[in-house]
Amino acid sequence: MVINIKVPKDVMRHCPTCRKHTAQTTEQVKTAGRRSGSALKQGTRRKTGYLHKGYGGSPYPKIEHGSKFGAKTSHKIMLRYKCKECGKKNQARTAFRAKKFEIKKA
Ligand SMILES: [Zn+2]
Repeated sequence: MVINIKVPKDVMRHCPTCRKHTAQTTEQVKTAGRRSGSALKQGTRRKTGYLHKGYGGSPYPKIEHGSKFGAKTSHKIMLRYKCKECGKKNQARTAFRAKKFEIKKA
């Protein structure tokens, strides 16, 4: 995992629609967060809220630094490229993890 990643805003990339290299702009795909989402996820959220309520704290083990389990400190980053010629958006095939992520303005 790379700690710090900087990606240029404008890149030359292959566009599958135009079938050639074109100038494209980079943007980050927004993921996760508290989505209104499905009813199933809503139920899970309600249950966790109920378990944390009142005295006694959380029934789940505390997340400690260096432990095998628990929350990750890095974020998964997905990139999307918008072709300047045809206006189509193409998503990068692979996601990667990074602690800090930045899109450099040229
Ligand atoms: Zn294109």
